[in-house]
Amino acid sequence: IAAKTGWNFDNSYARLPESLFSRLNPTPVRSPKLIVLNHSLAASLGLNDSALQQKDEVAVLAGNRVPEGSAPLAQAYAGHQFGHFNMLGDGRALLLGEQITPLGKRVDIQLKGSGRTPYSRGGDGRAALGPMLREYIISEAMHALGIATTRSLAVVTTGESIIRETELPGAILTRVAASHIRVATFQYVSAWDTAQNLRVLADYTLDRHYPEAAAKENRYLGLLQEVIKRQAELIAKWQLAGFIHGVMNTDNMALSGETIDYGPCAFMDTYDPATVFSSIDIQGRYAYANQPRIAAWNLARFAETLLPLLHDNETQAIEMAEDAISDFTDMFHRHWLSGMRGKLGIFNEEVQDESLIKDLLEMMQQHRADYTNTFRALTLGKLEDMALFSTVEFAQWHEQWQTRLDRQQESQASVHQLMRSSNPAIIPRNHRVEEALEAAVKQEDYGVMEQLLKALSNPFAYSAEQEIYSALPEESACPYRTFC
Ligand code: AMP
Ligand code: MG
Ligand code: MG
Repeated sequence: IAAKTGWNFDNSYARLPESLFSRLNPTPVRSPKLIVLNHSLAASLGLNDSALQQKDEVAVLAGNRVPEGSAPLAQAYAGHQFGHFNMLGDGRALLLGEQITPLGKRVDIQLKGSGRTPYSRGGDGRAALGPMLREYIISEAMHALGIATTRSLAVVTTGESIIRETELPGAILTRVAASHIRVATFQYVSAWDTAQNLRVLADYTLDRHYPEAAAKENRYLGLLQEVIKRQAELIAKWQLAGFIHGVMNTDNMALSGETIDYGPCAFMDTYDPATVFSSIDIQGRYAYANQPRIAAWNLARFAETLLPLLHDNETQAIEMAEDAISDFTDMFHRHWLSGMRGKLGIFNEEVQDESLIKDLLEMMQQHRADYTNTFRALTLGKLEDMALFSTVEFAQWHEQWQTRLDRQQESQASVHQLMRSSNPAIIPRNHRVEEALEAAVKQEDYGVMEQLLKALSNPFAYSAEQEIYSALPEESACPYRTFC
């Protein structure tokens, strides 16, 4: 079956020191049923789409059968959750192994919701259908938006209920990632394992994600710099898209530079830097505007773990780490600014661009403008139906903006093209996601979700069919809240 389906596992993580993980098989479930399958992702992984839908393969996605060649394990990690250091580890997920794709790429195949592990402190090791479909929808939307992310191959229901506030249908998500090595993986080794194993993990990470840096004179400094570079680019993309991760704990920062762990995340609607959706983020630690700062904080925790590898002399090691971390802010800002220029159709650089951008954002905040739809309207040149557009200050800003565009060589057509490719027509709007999840969970109607997924797979299309997904929900008394 494995050959026909296309599973082609290698298990390099399982060859690392045993202290980094615990080997165990998924806990079988009562009656697996495939709910959604990512056909194009399956193809790129070298997996046969129709074989995957057969009973024997759905059993793999449910954890009822361990596929040939895989070596399931739960990964150990320890990190900062809301600033507090805890022992963690995969408490409800298992790495099946690494699929080697037809193009020779190595990606983790992970089951999320596959049962308890030695790292489950509390918890049942299981996941509910709603949140797993939510991760599927949002991660795939992120991918289509051009933002580095883990992917979702499939969701199966287990035929078992799980107990949360109420009984909910249980489900398992198959997650595909460049790897699941996190800042917290290094924190775990640094806190509890040997210096030798820290070096082994660092070499493994270099080898897997940053082979160019491995050739540098100080490869561990190279690792730190490359991780910082990727995070700067990633967080800039989050900010530009209005994505709020919601739980930027150090166990949720992947060293590959992919967005990982879609729990209470959501896209910002009304532009407000203080936006928080997560019900557990009382202090607003992970608010939209804080994301770059928190990323830098997490990266500093990563840098600390690398100190013994950076230099024999601790003072010099600290200096190297600090230098590297201090580059983050500049790098982030450069990516953000260049992305914002794109959103406004600006090709070249002028010093005043930043104030032009900030003026617009300030007006958006003041007039409670929808973030995505403001840029969508500017792209389409349809400056109607938003309160912001009828203000005098906007008219003045608009004139400044047009003058700015006139000062560059590019034609109107190229300006429009740049804006179209920088400003998504649609994002996974909270009320649309909820509507899809409700139909799926309560009515077993997956059509609403399939439609939504289809629209989100091409967010820059600006097609007529997409328009319903850019409409705002009716004004609601209570703000949108997410739960993990
Ligand atoms: P997260 O908030 O998803 O990053 O998870 C933080 C930690 O809690 C991880 O170690 C998870 O594996 C663990 N965890 C989350 N939900 C459950 C659950 N239902 N059962 C056991 N462990 C869990
Ligand atoms: Mg996590
Ligand atoms: Mg989670």
